Amino acid sequence: MCYIFNQKDENLQHDLRKRSFLKIALAGTLGLGMFGGGIVMASEKKPLQTASSKVVPEPENVLTPEKALERLMEGNKRHEAGLSIESPHKHTPKDAHMKGQNPYAAILGCADSRVGPEHCFDESHGDLFVARVAGNYITIDFLATLEYAVSVLHTPLIMVLGHEKCGAVKAAMDSINKNEQFEGHIQTMATALLPAVRAAKKIPGELYDNTVIMNVKLAVAELKKSTPIFNQLVKDKKLLIVGGVYRIGTGRVVLVT
Ligand SMILES: [Zn+2]
Repeated sequence: MCYIFNQKDENLQHDLRKRSFLKIALAGTLGLGMFGGGIVMASEKKPLQTASSKVVPEPENVLTPEKALERLMEGNKRHEAGLSIESPHKHTPKDAHMKGQNPYAAILGCADSRVGPEHCFDESHGDLFVARVAGNYITIDFLATLEYAVSVLHTPLIMVLGHEKCGAVKAAMDSINKNEQFEGHIQTMATALLPAVRAAKKIPGELYDNTVIMNVKLAVAELKKSTPIFNQLVKDKKLLIVGGVYRIGTGRVVLVT
């Protein structure tokens, strides 16, 4: 069964309208990136830039996928230790940002207010390409967003970021365990996470935490095989797709894939 969540039939028209809007919006953004001088070609390999250097990543993301992951996790260590040096709130004019964007990592994360990726990884404007939805599950729209990051911006790393005490995961668990039905469109979110709950029920341990981890693992596995773009880049070792879980109590991101 495909893990990518499909809208129910009654929502299909709404979904199609949304996609049409996204298509138009992306076309505009693509135009800016490709023809507005957004991407600057790199003439040679440059050493890894660290967040402490206060310099945006090099053009064309010369970071390898492994170095990108290393930088991401180093930022999380600073965050966990209370030693963050970047401020996502502060606007610092940078010439490089006027020329375009060059994020070294794309994050598919939960919309939860406690897990803002720029905070969790101690990064600032221009560093991370972030797509967020409660429950960090995959839809066609999110695939398009992540493909844009990878294919157009050449971002070498995708991280699916779940988190401890995720309300969306709890809703999915209640949907199964208590046969609860949520009002409005909330059930759509809960339903999307049901495969993770069912898979987590088959393994020993605490169901809530296991479901959070399983939800991330399923999303990573699906991303790797979901589109020819990701599939080929992963095979060529030009793209790394990993999963992490943010521990709210400590601030640490634990890799789970
Ligand atoms: Zn959440």
